[in-house]
Amino acid sequence: MAGKLGTRKLAVLLRATLSLICLSAIQPAYSGEKKNAYLLAVLSDNNYTVLQRQDTGKAAPVGSLLKPFAAWYLLEKGVPAHQNVFCPPEKKRHELLRCWTPNGHGAVNLAAALVQSCNYYFLSLFAGRDLGDYQAWLTRRFDWPVSLPIEKPVHVYGFDLANGIDPERLASMYLSLLLSADKGDPHATQVRNALGDICFGTLADFCRTMSRQREFRIILGKTGTVQSGKKPYGIALVVLEHIPRKEKILLLCYELEKTGSGAALAAPAILSRYAREIRKSKNLRR
Ligand SMILES: [Zn+2]
Repeated sequence: MAGKLGTRKLAVLLRATLSLICLSAIQPAYSGEKKNAYLLAVLSDNNYTVLQRQDTGKAAPVGSLLKPFAAWYLLEKGVPAHQNVFCPPEKKRHELLRCWTPNGHGAVNLAAALVQSCNYYFLSLFAGRDLGDYQAWLTRRFDWPVSLPIEKPVHVYGFDLANGIDPERLASMYLSLLLSADKGDPHATQVRNALGDICFGTLADFCRTMSRQREFRIILGKTGTVQSGKKPYGIALVVLEHIPRKEKILLLCYELEKTGSGAALAAPAILSRYAREIRKSKNLRR
């Protein structure tokens, strides 16, 4: 009996040590005393240029920002975009099928699952699928990092704090999505269009604030929230058109102690500063 307990204790200790090793490997997106960070890039025909990168470390949590790519994969595998999955309230869920809202999202199709960021939808539709095939697809299409293997069902739509990704890698994945949609890829188009309705979902507050900045048109967005100890850690990605310059701008915001929707509320000030700088440089050229 004592021997068994000893083994169990050792296993617990080992698990704790391993998770500590994993946690110490993360480079949070914010650094030092600051609790937020961002990356601002301008997208061109087939590339992007980082204009500002403030306080982002080398890696940051992926959160649910992988969901659009999970959706793209499902569409390529023949899942119809209109197929509904019922995300039930917490009490009626299966142990392995979870969602972040205790009330459940009810019936969601692919577009609604993206706009509401429904975990249950993705966990259900990936159940029984070959996760290795999905990882190979991500690697082939987006040079997905080997450090982020898709091993558990929750990995299909995102990773938490223990596993980071370079914010620029995420930016380039979203650029691929936009480019493929522009070239007429039907599945990429469906995903892009769904993300274009994000103002009806997790970015409603951001969109309301942005409606005062008429120089910008929102193209798409996605949010994610991971846990950092007992605190949330929010991630928000938005792509907008800066109308006067006809430029596409990508902004990725990270903020500790905020949800993804909350982290997005730092974006209007960053965008307004960007627009102001452009107006200033235009005046200087005259
Ligand atoms: Zn749900």
